[in-house]
Amino acid sequence: MNLKTVEFSESFAREMDFKDSLAQFRSRFYFPKVKGQEAIYFCGNSLGLQPKMVKDYLDQELKNWAELAVDGHFQGEDAWYHIRKKSKPALAEILGAQEHEVVAMNNLSVNLHLLMVSFYRPTAERFKIIIEKGAFPSDQYMLESQVKFHGLNPDEVIVELGPRAGEYTLRTEDILAEIRNQGDQLALVNMAGLQYYTGQLFDMKAITAAAHEVGALAGFDLAHAVGNVPLQLHDWEVDFATWCSYKYLNSGPGNVSGIFVHERFAERPDLPRFAGWWGHDEGQRFAMEKGFLPMFGADGWQLANSNVLALAAHQASLDIFQEAGIQRLREKSEQLTGYLEFLINKISGESGILEIITPENRSQRGCQLSLLIHRGGKTVFDEWYQQGVVGDWRHPNVIRLAPTPLYNSFMDVFRFGKILEQSLKKFA
Ligand SMILES: *Cc1c(COP(=O)(O)O)cnc(C)c1O
Repeated sequence: MNLKTVEFSESFAREMDFKDSLAQFRSRFYFPKVKGQEAIYFCGNSLGLQPKMVKDYLDQELKNWAELAVDGHFQGEDAWYHIRKKSKPALAEILGAQEHEVVAMNNLSVNLHLLMVSFYRPTAERFKIIIEKGAFPSDQYMLESQVKFHGLNPDEVIVELGPRAGEYTLRTEDILAEIRNQGDQLALVNMAGLQYYTGQLFDMKAITAAAHEVGALAGFDLAHAVGNVPLQLHDWEVDFATWCSYKYLNSGPGNVSGIFVHERFAERPDLPRFAGWWGHDEGQRFAMEKGFLPMFGADGWQLANSNVLALAAHQASLDIFQEAGIQRLREKSEQLTGYLEFLINKISGESGILEIITPENRSQRGCQLSLLIHRGGKTVFDEWYQQGVVGDWRHPNVIRLAPTPLYNSFMDVFRFGKILEQSLKKFA
């Protein structure tokens, strides 16, 4: 998108939609209604929309269950015993991983704990953890409880890294400097890949390299990165990661999470872990004998048999991602969010009512823009909702808007611009 030709006009938005090769994907999703009208849905960062095909995928498994019952574990094209394998090609593409490095399982917060068991091994000398300040609460509680579990004091272990005074987001150079500063004492960098509140995308490659240089590990919570920005976890040498599937991955409320464990840990039965039968060597699982033998790769971290119905809904969405392609999605995403940014700056402009705190640099953000609202507060946000805009409000004064390239259009952004223009007039 050429910034010189961008316009706050319906004809411009229609033209962009007309040229958009991903425009057809919109019709594959159900849109919620606000006051009887189809919403302008900018909340995929919180809960992605339902793909219309989800019902068919679920119906297929309900049919298998009805017709095969227990035999469904081993019979049919998608025998449940191996069902975890089905999502691997798509997940590998989305995460930039080898198939054996990823597996869908559990929920995000559960996976964070399981991964910490293996990858946070504090010693008297090396015990510190770096996390970004203001991390998602579940991640903070997880860290605090893990540290206490090891009998350590969270205040002495957890290093929270905040922005410089007067700034809203972190500078990569400051993150790298803190890693070097902690040096030999640093055990782990455990940050978000993309920060939920500010929308900042961190340089995971540089952070991982810096962590490794001082002898520490790097793991990321990709809740807001997965399905939003292209990832190359394998090549970046990230040690481990986890995510959820109900935000940009559109797999349904509370649906299954996934983990990434780098190949270099694929054959490390010595790594401590909390084990269950589904992580045990598949060939010998039904020998029902004692002596845990972890499966190769990420599969060796599974505890329990797959939640088949959850995976069915997940697959309906993953198939769409494979069809659309993460690179193509990213190209559109930069344009769509660029358009939203342009309109907000143009409309709010001099009034100073709205301030975008998400980095301007496209390589440091995904589709979400976080807006600090200086006047009007939640009243403004509520008014947008009355006009059909579904975004989200974060206490005390941030609005997050996430136009997603799969199902949002340039007309959505334009229509939001019109609503914004009206609502800000009152506070000018
Ligand atoms: C959404 C989100 C979670 C949610 O955790 P669940 O275990 O899926 O409930 C955790 N961490 C981050 C960073 C998130 O964005």
